[in-house]
Amino acid sequence: MPDIIQKILDKDPGQREFHQAVHEVLESVKPVLVRSPEYQQTAILERITEPERVIMFRVPWMDDQGQVHVNRGFRVEMNSAIGPYKGGLRFHPSVNLGIIKFLAFEQVFKNSLTTLAMGGGKGGSDFNPKGKSDNEVMRFCQSFMSELFRHIGPDTDIPAGDIGVGAREIGFLFGMYKKLKNEFTGVLTGKSLNWGGSLIRPEATGYGNVYFAAEMLATRNETFEGKTCLVSGAGNVAQFTAEKVIELGGKVLTLSDSSGYVLDEQGIDKDKLDFVKKLKNIRRGRISEYIEEYPQAVYTEVDSVLDHNPLWDHKADCALPSATENEINEKDARNLVKNGITLVSEGANMPSTPEAVSVFLEHKLLYGPGKAANAGGVAVSGLEMAQNSMRLSWPMEEVDDRLKIIMKSIHKTCLDAAADYNLPGNYVAGANIAGFVKVVNAMLDQGLV
Ligand code: NDP
Repeated sequence: MPDIIQKILDKDPGQREFHQAVHEVLESVKPVLVRSPEYQQTAILERITEPERVIMFRVPWMDDQGQVHVNRGFRVEMNSAIGPYKGGLRFHPSVNLGIIKFLAFEQVFKNSLTTLAMGGGKGGSDFNPKGKSDNEVMRFCQSFMSELFRHIGPDTDIPAGDIGVGAREIGFLFGMYKKLKNEFTGVLTGKSLNWGGSLIRPEATGYGNVYFAAEMLATRNETFEGKTCLVSGAGNVAQFTAEKVIELGGKVLTLSDSSGYVLDEQGIDKDKLDFVKKLKNIRRGRISEYIEEYPQAVYTEVDSVLDHNPLWDHKADCALPSATENEINEKDARNLVKNGITLVSEGANMPSTPEAVSVFLEHKLLYGPGKAANAGGVAVSGLEMAQNSMRLSWPMEEVDDRLKIIMKSIHKTCLDAAADYNLPGNYVAGANIAGFVKVVNAMLDQGLV
């Protein structure tokens, strides 16, 4: 097995996040390979770590001053053994092939855990929507879709949102797809409600993460009632994570963006969260503006010289990272443990470094890895696809109930798989093993393709 890791390192040097994600999964599935030697005999690890297809393309667009810019677009179609490719689009200056491959790889196992028939993919661009006018974002999205439309479709590959891609971007992308194909289909999820979107889709990742965390707490006969929570990010996932924590009786102490974080010891309640939603989703402002409205809170700017993130160094019960990858390093993890955190549930994808994960496991925290804990987003995307196919819209309660059932089922699947391999309570092993086995069995059934 070290052979495979070495081959990947040699073949794709520099794809640090992809190597990290592959390493974690392959470590977890070692006992599966021992129990089922046919996986090794059929080179399943080599096959599952190689994307089925990688699409990279030029995205030229013009800003409001008439200046031409060129960005790079990506779509990695990782695995379609259990369904059409499904996974979000990320628009952020840090996007490169390695990051999209890591996200697509994670998506394969996450989608497998949802119980729905969805393969894994991911895409995006190094375009930065921050500070751009709506017209600039529209022109960029139209240019991006004028290439991507060839590769996607409601039965082939169905993108959604991710960092930097919300309702506005999905609207522009869908509009261009419809014009080019002359078809009104469910080719994207995260659509607005009045033209094919699903109720609860915006809320799904955050709500789902809190449902998953509540299941973990229940294994220790605990609930969110009275629990204090550190939440990072202030975007889609963070907002609805905070909303559900508040609804379940917990207290949210922090929110952040890439410039800094706010600590509100009195708790970010529903009214304060409404302010953040308007600030972030409508005014597209910075989280630092929170303290202008609520001066009792404290704002701390990012200090790039620090070897840790001070957001994770406050007394609390739960941590719900909801911003980006590798936002919790080993020192942060040790600070969390020192401060009495007993639960970490990941709304973001791979927010904890491997060293941080080891600290969580060593201290027996309730630790829900992103591919299980944040699968609610893609699960409701799957429900949006089902509604689109039937040309029906389910009521809010129905979608929310289905989301709860799915998160409960993912939680149980993780625990059962971990117990089956003698690793009780290890959600990392459980998620990786259960996600992996379903996909590789489908691959074996379908022959060498
Ligand atoms: P948004 O763009 O809505 O929000 C992202 C938030 O994280 C913003 O507050 C942003 O701050 C902050 N952030 C982004 N990059 C960095 C960085 N490098 N350092 C510090 N802060 C950063 O994205 P989402 O809420 O949709 O996504 C958040 C995470 O959740 C990502 O890891 C994503 O992959 C994951 N996820 C999202 C799903 C979804 O349904 N949307 C589904 C499953 C996982 P700023 O505005 O300053 O950039």
